[in-house]
Amino acid sequence: MTRQESHFFECRKGCGACCIAPSISSPIPGLPNGKSGGFPCPHLTDDGLCAIFLSPDRPKVCDGFRADTLVCGSCRREALKILGDLEGLDGDALADKYGDAYGEEGT
Ligand code: SF4
Ligand code: SF4
Repeated sequence: MTRQESHFFECRKGCGACCIAPSISSPIPGLPNGKSGGFPCPHLTDDGLCAIFLSPDRPKVCDGFRADTLVCGSCRREALKILGDLEGLDGDALADKYGDAYGEEGT
């Protein structure tokens, strides 16, 4: 069995999977208690970007999240599945629900 290696890479613009699958416990503007896993952050735009990317109120955990093949996979669907499973959710269902929510970018 081969061990999957971690590889950092440049985030897929417009993917947004890590703004949907993981829970965030720190305050987010408009959500003082953070958000539950499996739900899109209200600041995730329709084209899969962060509407408060440059705001000082953007949670530090968001800034610290680095694109890595281990969790981002090779496309949005895969990222939703991996991150959803890690969250203890049904990753396949999450990928089915949000995998094609945006345009071609980020796939
Ligand atoms: S899941 Fe990975 S590739 Fe997708 S937006 Fe987040 S960091 Fe970028
Ligand atoms: S604040 Fe921005 S980066 Fe953080 S989860 Fe929401 S949309 Fe994503």
